Amino acid sequence: MQRPLPDWDFHTALGAPKVLSSFIDGRAVLPGLNLLPVEDPATEDEITWFAEAEEDTVAAAVQSAQETFLRHWRHAPPVQRGRLLFAIAAKLRSRAEDLARLESLDTGKPLGQTRTDIETAARYFDYYGGVADKIGGETIPQPESSFTFTLREPIGVVVHVTPWNSPITQMVRGVAPSLAAGNTVVVKPSEIAPISSVVAAALFVEAGLPPGVCNVVLGRGSTTGARLVSDPRVGHVTFTGSVRTGKAIMAMTAQNVVPCNLELGGKSPTLVFPDADLDAAALSAARQVIRNSGQACVATTRILAHADIHDDLVERIGRHVAGLTIGHGLDNRDLGPLASAAQKARVLGYLDGALSDGATVAAGGGMPDVERGHFVMPTILTEVTNDMTVARDEVFGPVQCVLRFESEEEGAAIANDTPYGLAAGIFTRDIARAFRLMRVLEAGQIRINNFAAGGIETPFGGYKQSGIGREKGMEALRHYTQLKTVILDTP
Ligand code: NAD
Repeated sequence: MQRPLPDWDFHTALGAPKVLSSFIDGRAVLPGLNLLPVEDPATEDEITWFAEAEEDTVAAAVQSAQETFLRHWRHAPPVQRGRLLFAIAAKLRSRAEDLARLESLDTGKPLGQTRTDIETAARYFDYYGGVADKIGGETIPQPESSFTFTLREPIGVVVHVTPWNSPITQMVRGVAPSLAAGNTVVVKPSEIAPISSVVAAALFVEAGLPPGVCNVVLGRGSTTGARLVSDPRVGHVTFTGSVRTGKAIMAMTAQNVVPCNLELGGKSPTLVFPDADLDAAALSAARQVIRNSGQACVATTRILAHADIHDDLVERIGRHVAGLTIGHGLDNRDLGPLASAAQKARVLGYLDGALSDGATVAAGGGMPDVERGHFVMPTILTEVTNDMTVARDEVFGPVQCVLRFESEEEGAAIANDTPYGLAAGIFTRDIARAFRLMRVLEAGQIRINNFAAGGIETPFGGYKQSGIGREKGMEALRHYTQLKTVILDTP
């Protein structure tokens, strides 16, 4: 069944009827020739089309960002930049329900989750709006005849290439600190869920952001994305997505000696000890594969259960995945569909592979009773060993693996035996053990007794192949500024 579009007609809002197109210099550009469909993942119907940005459109977006940076934005008083970011936060809140509905329609995420995403997006602008006038350098002690200090300057044009699992929060996570620091941006959202990014950019202009400060180009990665990342006028690239694409982006930015932040995948472990609050650990383990159907980089999808509580924990996790309801994102059930047919096929492939490798379905699983839509029910696998593909690869879907360990040392060794290092969890009441493991575990974020912890203020990024650099908090500003040292000698 075709779902009606939300009340807010985003096509009209962008001045480009019927076809969604790139947003450059404060307005929607004329659609190009190559039109690509955007699908509703719950019904498999086309909800709109977007025009892929060709070479000249990508070049125009970078030019707009560069000219706006040089003429205006880098000179804007920091307090004024901060006020504009506060205005954007208010604007996002004023259109929160429209934006949440668009995001649910495009990604399949249940409405309750996209409402939270829009509020999170607004919070990024609150946070970095407050930071804009506090980015400064320092004085360096030198001989008395010399006065030496540093300036933290913006870089110029910063590119943000984002994935489809949480499009608006992935976009603003990097855009808000970039703008606070005085950069201009060009965003390339995923071709699978591009709507909210281009609508958000239009709302930023409505909120008072000068045209050209935030531009969005639409298109596929290998075409539009690669052109954008390779443009020699770009000063920094922030990429959020798969390890494979991250490596390709790194190779492209190396050609121009341009730094990049890579926020890549994960296969995060969580160790659960016999002294832990098992209800809290079980709820957390289940939520990892229910929320956004497990399509989250940070999802902890290797639960390492101590042998003494393994069966008890599995039984408790199973209770949370029984009786879950599914539905269209706009219907706000427990679960929506996965974002695309390709993602569904990938997840089912991993499940088949796991069963042939000897894993057992301990809870959940089975195919939902629907004719259309990319729905997959959460599945809890046991008898998983860390050498199985399902324990090593990022499934990016509702598949939870429970592995068994006997001692703290063995548990830590299994946790670290992965090419990834985005996050790691520990559930224990033994504070000494938590402190020991906090140091041993190889991950950019350690979450103890609550895997849902952490917010926009807490630096986030990966060890090992989970990435390079840190987003969120004050730490992100290191990437969006460059340091200039000034040495002033008295004549
Ligand atoms: P992806 O790597 O396929 O695509 C991400 C983005 O890169 C898309 O916009 C795509 O069009 C673009 N792209 C693809 N090839 C490109 C190229 N050659 N040049 C330039 N751009 C290119 O990832 P995905 O499937 O969209 O997202 C899922 C992945 O994202 C998972 O691995 C997940 O872990 C990761 N992710 C990481 C974080 C994080 O913060 N660490 C957050 C969300 C998702």
